[in-house]
Amino acid sequence: MDQPTHHHADTLKSQVEEATGVALSHCYQCGKCTAGCPLNEEMDVMPNQILRMLQLELPGYEEKILSSLSIWLCLACDTCYSRCPQEVKLSQVMDFLRQESIRQEKVNPEAKDILKFHKAFLNSIKMNGKLHEVGLTIDYKLRTLNLMQDVQLVPSMMAKGKLAIFPHQVQNTKEIAKIFKRISENG
Ligand code: SF4
Ligand code: SF4
Repeated sequence: MDQPTHHHADTLKSQVEEATGVALSHCYQCGKCTAGCPLNEEMDVMPNQILRMLQLELPGYEEKILSSLSIWLCLACDTCYSRCPQEVKLSQVMDFLRQESIRQEKVNPEAKDILKFHKAFLNSIKMNGKLHEVGLTIDYKLRTLNLMQDVQLVPSMMAKGKLAIFPHQVQNTKEIAKIFKRISENG
């Protein structure tokens, strides 16, 4: 009988652990990451669920994770990390999953818009030191080169006050620079 050619390192779970150094088993599913995530309402798979799926490795989990929208919504703000009692660095996991999603050509169709949104978000911070929601939307629309296109994510985030929280929370320029660096590295 043929021996399977794949080995342990081939599973998404072990790839994540090897690439990021994050010990997935340390997560005990308290849910604090998801509760604190500013993008949780937009996500299709919650941050703690991504970790759970990686832990359990149930059939089809790789596909579900790599084609999720959530991995593209993550802004690498590390709010989850600051709240996690187990110091699970989710942003690193998300970053690896995005790379792997591209490599395996599993990118969620909506992610293309999200990437443009990330860039508009960055430019807005860079130019103003804080977010101006209207400016952000215009910049976003210009970047898509499709002014007639409805951008579903941005108005929905604005309506829920997700964007408005940033000007108050991101006060000093050092903090902005840090976030900017993180997002650029991940973008
Ligand atoms: S906060 Fe940490 S331990 Fe709790 S569910 Fe999230 S990653 Fe797991
Ligand atoms: S780093 Fe990503 S998953 Fe964690 S709170 Fe920020 S946006 Fe959510």
